[in-house]
Amino acid sequence: MSPGTLDKYEPVIGLEVHVQLATRTKIFCACPTGFGAPPNTNVCPVCLGLPGALPVLNRRVVEMAVQGALALNCQVRGESIFARKNYFYPDLPKGYQISQYDRPLAEHGHVDILLDDGGSKRIGVTRVHLEDDAGKSMHEGFRDSDRYTYVDLNRTGTPLIEIVSEPDIRSSSEAYAYLTELKLLMQFCGVSTCDMEKGHLRCDANVSVRLRGAEKFGTKAEVKNLNSFRFLKQALDYEIVRQVELIESGGRVVQETRLYNPAVGETFSMRSKEHAHDYRYFPEPDLLPLRIAPGWRAEIEAAMPELPPAKRARFISGFGLRPYDADVLTQTREMSEYFERAANASGDPRGAANWVMGDLAAALKADGKELADSPVSAEQLGELVALIAKGGISGKLAKEIFPKMWSTGESAAVIVEREGLRQISDTGAIEKIIAEVIAANPKQVDQYRGGKTAVIGFLVGQVMKASRGQANPQLVNDLMKKALG
Ligand code: ADP
Ligand code: ZN
Ligand code: MG
Repeated sequence: MSPGTLDKYEPVIGLEVHVQLATRTKIFCACPTGFGAPPNTNVCPVCLGLPGALPVLNRRVVEMAVQGALALNCQVRGESIFARKNYFYPDLPKGYQISQYDRPLAEHGHVDILLDDGGSKRIGVTRVHLEDDAGKSMHEGFRDSDRYTYVDLNRTGTPLIEIVSEPDIRSSSEAYAYLTELKLLMQFCGVSTCDMEKGHLRCDANVSVRLRGAEKFGTKAEVKNLNSFRFLKQALDYEIVRQVELIESGGRVVQETRLYNPAVGETFSMRSKEHAHDYRYFPEPDLLPLRIAPGWRAEIEAAMPELPPAKRARFISGFGLRPYDADVLTQTREMSEYFERAANASGDPRGAANWVMGDLAAALKADGKELADSPVSAEQLGELVALIAKGGISGKLAKEIFPKMWSTGESAAVIVEREGLRQISDTGAIEKIIAEVIAANPKQVDQYRGGKTAVIGFLVGQVMKASRGQANPQLVNDLMKKALG
């Protein structure tokens, strides 16, 4: 298919994202949520769905879900209702999932994403609802896998929020940016680790295409099994082309659920799309309506940290950072807090930003260390930057001092003092070296005076060398010009 044909169409995408809440225990029982326990050991009558066992809602789950919803700018309902979503699958012992249906926890939110061209775009969040996770069927890795499927129910009853977006996304890279920002927001408020490898962040994509300019949406297909950011992008790109080719060759997209197979990079039809009525939703009779009183809501909101969008804006307007740098420095809560402390200690926020993103990040990476284990504290890095900004040391010298701070944990001032590295800004001392350099290099001095002024670079270099790099380069330059007349 020619790129021109593809360009005639506009993709329309909506994402359904499941986020595992980072509670210690499950949503309706006290079983632990930890990963990696022996199969079927973190279970009890409630999460096994044994007759007569009753669910009790975990208070922390509600608090985290509300924080997540607020981070997505949603309106939280004062009263929401749990509903049974009935379906039959070996990893679902109750025969239904406890979810929310027509009165979800929160609605009407949005996420602002950063586009490749530096602009931003608002993606609507339709709803955020609470639900419990199912168990896990294991089809491979057993002696008799050809005949049996094994089931591990440790995960049943793990608390999830499902975040449904509006069909506002128009490309695979917008989808990528949306999921990136959503993950960042959830991690920032401590609601989830969003570790995709452990299934803490899972994404299904709804995709359709329409002719550019058309008003009506096309028929959508739902693509499942997108368990990495890369796969999300690849699967969407594949699915968009598949639908355009289908339509261009006179076919029609059918509403169905498709599975992405990363090994071949293609999506496959899994089943025809189920509809809400297939699930026979009805209000969960074992749970009361979930009421969130204004006082409780206010407490939850007060416990929220400052989020990346607000931090970015503040770093740009207050510290004069470039948007790109503000973005990089708000990738984790730890990094943003480290940077802010360093910036305040340095008196030169842009300088501090460069050091955090440059030498510090490189040293952390080289040693495989987390920011929390950095031997150079934010205040120490700030002090180093302040020394450069005030002319106490040159930037070049600072590059040599930093590794010493890293290996000893000492402050820049201590190292500078001990090793006698302070920048020489004493006019008399510099003039003395200049006189020596002029006397030792008569040929270059003649050349300069004869009009070859570029030779001053050589002479300044000699002074820097003689001062072991400690002379203030600007001052040397000025004084050298004066001395040469
Ligand atoms: P369903 O009733 O099939 O579950 P919903 O209207 O609840 O569909 O939407 C589910 C998801 O699909 C949402 O994320 C929504 O944004 C997205 N969506 C809805 N219609 C389309 C469409 N025509 N093309 C792409 N995505 C869509
Ligand atoms: Zn349990
Ligand atoms: Mg729906």
